[in-house]
Amino acid sequence: AVELDRVAELVRSVPDYPQPGVLFRDITPVLADGEAFATVATEIAARTGEADVVVGVEARGFLLGAAVALVAGVGTVPVRKAGKLPAVAASRTYDLEYGTATLELPAGVVEPGTRVYVVDDVLATGGTAAAACALLTDAGAEIVGFGTLLELTALDGRAKLDGVRVDALLSG
Ligand code: IMP
Repeated sequence: AVELDRVAELVRSVPDYPQPGVLFRDITPVLADGEAFATVATEIAARTGEADVVVGVEARGFLLGAAVALVAGVGTVPVRKAGKLPAVAASRTYDLEYGTATLELPAGVVEPGTRVYVVDDVLATGGTAAAACALLTDAGAEIVGFGTLLELTALDGRAKLDGVRVDALLSG
């Protein structure tokens, strides 16, 4: 679609961030553009199906996830990096290229049987999305799908999301 072509043009590629040799894809200009932001939120919201809630992954997933939830007419729940939540239901540590990271699910908001749709800005290696989904399934939630603005297909992140439908508006 014409709108998604425009969104793609707004994604900025930043060389050598966060470390030398990495080409970082920055969606900040997409979020800063009202029309592009609305297009992205609307397109992802159209894929949330029967979800009861949209889960956003810290931090850009919060911005996107909240907008998607509002368009879809459901609530939103943040999955946060360790140490940020006052009350934690569960945490999950996963491997990064260098070291590990931990994600946490807030207490008291995702009941067993809740249908959730998970959102993040970029799907790279898939470790973050897989950890977020594992936290949710461990809590008894049903994952309706994972939505992202951009999938870096060369990294094959979706292989880590076994059984989860991946909706990517752009791939690169
Ligand atoms: P993963 O490699 O799929 O686990 O990605 C790790 C986290 O970093 C996710 O929350 C992604 O949104 C983010 N991320 C990884 N690579 C990029 C990038 O090139 N641009 C923006 N975010 C990225």
